[in-house]
Amino acid sequence: MRIDVLTLFPDMFAGFLGQSIVKRALEAGVADVRLHNFRRFAQDRHHTVDDAPFGGGPGMVLMADPIFRCVEHLRQEVPMAPLIYLSPKGEVLTQRLAGELALMPSLMLLCGRYEGVDQRVVDHLVQREISVGDYVLSGGEPAAMILLDAVVRLLPGALGDEASTQEESFSEGVLEYPQYTRPAEYRGWRVPEVLLSGNHEVIRRWRRESARRETQSKRPDLFGAQVRMEASHE
Ligand code: SAM
Repeated sequence: MRIDVLTLFPDMFAGFLGQSIVKRALEAGVADVRLHNFRRFAQDRHHTVDDAPFGGGPGMVLMADPIFRCVEHLRQEVPMAPLIYLSPKGEVLTQRLAGELALMPSLMLLCGRYEGVDQRVVDHLVQREISVGDYVLSGGEPAAMILLDAVVRLLPGALGDEASTQEESFSEGVLEYPQYTRPAEYRGWRVPEVLLSGNHEVIRRWRRESARRETQSKRPDLFGAQVRMEASHE
């Protein structure tokens, strides 16, 4: 999958792209992430990308032209890539949405800054606005990294064990069951005996029940939705 990121701060991505699962996915050719500073597409001598908002008010707004030019330039190579604007006004990123995006051959991510982008970018260039939660970040870069991480790890070949994305939180509408590792007893706290039993069927049932309990107590909103879904399938 090719992912083009439009940002005024490409250096922010160096650590993120250079470590762990994302790094390995890039090295293996599972994902191809390219960073573009749209300041390069500003036409004036000072490479201006922002200006004061019409109508007054605090802060600066990202001008439409450098963003349009940058996207139009990239569209020559990836004409079908949907442009996603990371924005607090967007639909909230979920595991389901990450899974949907992971099926696309290419994506373009636009990182806003300051007071955001000129609305004409949103109205006439952007295909989708995605938020990473109901809070305001200083820029779209951390949001783009969250989206990238959530999507890249779902790409075939990104993780050593594909099963790990199938069993984790949200993948089946519930949170994941609790996990334990060695030692079996730590400071007097023992791992649930069932996990040491070697009986896979009993372990599977324990995990399913624990996942339901975990969801019911920590995310009753998800639990309600899951119960309604199960009822509609019966
Ligand atoms: N003035 C805007 C508002 O009130 O809606 C907030 C602009 S914010 C300071 C600057 C940029 O950060 C935005 O253009 C967007 O790209 C990014 N951003 C902020 N919060 C975000 C969130 N929750 N999800 C995704 N992107 C976010």
